[in-house]
Amino acid sequence: MGKILGIIGGGQLGMMIAEAAKDMSEEIEKVIVLDPAENCPASQVGAEQIVADFKDREAIIELSKRSDIITYEIESGDSDVLKSVEKNAEINPSPETLRVIQDKFLQKTFLKENDIAVPDFVRINSAEDVRRGIDEYGLPVLLKARRDAYDGRGNYKIDVSDCIQKAYDYFKGQKLMLERFVPFKQEVSVIASRNTKGQIKTYPLVENIHEENILRETIAPARVSRRIIEDAEEIAEKTMTVLKGAGVFGIEMFVTRDDQVVINEIAPRVHNSGHHSLQSSETSQFEQHLRAILGLDLGSTRLVHNTVMYNILGEKSFQGEYRPPELNDEDLYLKMYGKKISKPLRKLGHFNLVGSSGETVDQLLERLEKIKPRAVVQST
Ligand code: AMP
Repeated sequence: MGKILGIIGGGQLGMMIAEAAKDMSEEIEKVIVLDPAENCPASQVGAEQIVADFKDREAIIELSKRSDIITYEIESGDSDVLKSVEKNAEINPSPETLRVIQDKFLQKTFLKENDIAVPDFVRINSAEDVRRGIDEYGLPVLLKARRDAYDGRGNYKIDVSDCIQKAYDYFKGQKLMLERFVPFKQEVSVIASRNTKGQIKTYPLVENIHEENILRETIAPARVSRRIIEDAEEIAEKTMTVLKGAGVFGIEMFVTRDDQVVINEIAPRVHNSGHHSLQSSETSQFEQHLRAILGLDLGSTRLVHNTVMYNILGEKSFQGEYRPPELNDEDLYLKMYGKKISKPLRKLGHFNLVGSSGETVDQLLERLEKIKPRAVVQST
């Protein structure tokens, strides 16, 4: 008999985990997601849904009673509540790993204690602390919410000291940290996996292009030197070894101007920069995540095809029902997430443009440029 898998969150990541689970029907009998949005993306591909807030204690308890194993597609789950339901279901990554990762200050402290390079940072309790931090790091700096921030929404870049109070007040009492600004050359990431038995595998380094703090494009493989690839891989493996979490993790890094690799942040879940693996690799990150949490041997992470991933985002000036783009180009795999309403910069879908044999990343990027103007949603 297969296991019943519970997922906290049923957005596009939960949707693609649920789809991967369908291909592993011997191991996974059924998927149940907990998500506040009725008819969430995962429920549209056959997952059962408990409609409730991600942090709803009763709903998490219900999910744990109905599941054999629980995982998440978002990092904002309540780690204390999850810890309290470990007797009902196995939880991977563990609530303790989640607790450390979901707080950027604890995460960076943990990495630093394990000799893994991160930008300089300090805990902030007052506007005066921000002033002191700026004295040390210089300007600009980034004031960051420690928790529940994603797609850059929890960051405030301070360019001039006049803005310190404004930046501090912007966060209205949230727990904060301050970080030295890293003038990076490139943003890269490693999708890393560790199974419950300790086996570790990493996907090849990819390059990420953000627009307004939102991931727009992932280039697999990254256009960096052999040395940077090796450094990033070593950092990712070391991170997975010390973290001891089971599952897939997205490890975002900066390549600094002097070619050092530092971790920006870790997501304890499948990651947008790993979507290319749906077509580029033998094992998608979604299957890998399931293999990891079920304690199965991890699959091959070899990049079989050069691939670029492009996110379809809601138009900035539009909110409402929309028509998905029509993209019938060769080697293009469009995946829409079934969200009914478009909102400014909302992630509505993505596509992978897969290189044919011998096609270089630069050639793929040229093709992508021609497709981009058509990769937009229109109002209905
Ligand atoms: P985050 O949500 O913390 O991952 O930040 C979102 C984006 O802000 C990153 O992808 C970077 O482009 C930028 N960013 C975050 N931290 C720093 C930093 N210390 N220095 C420079 N840019 C940063």
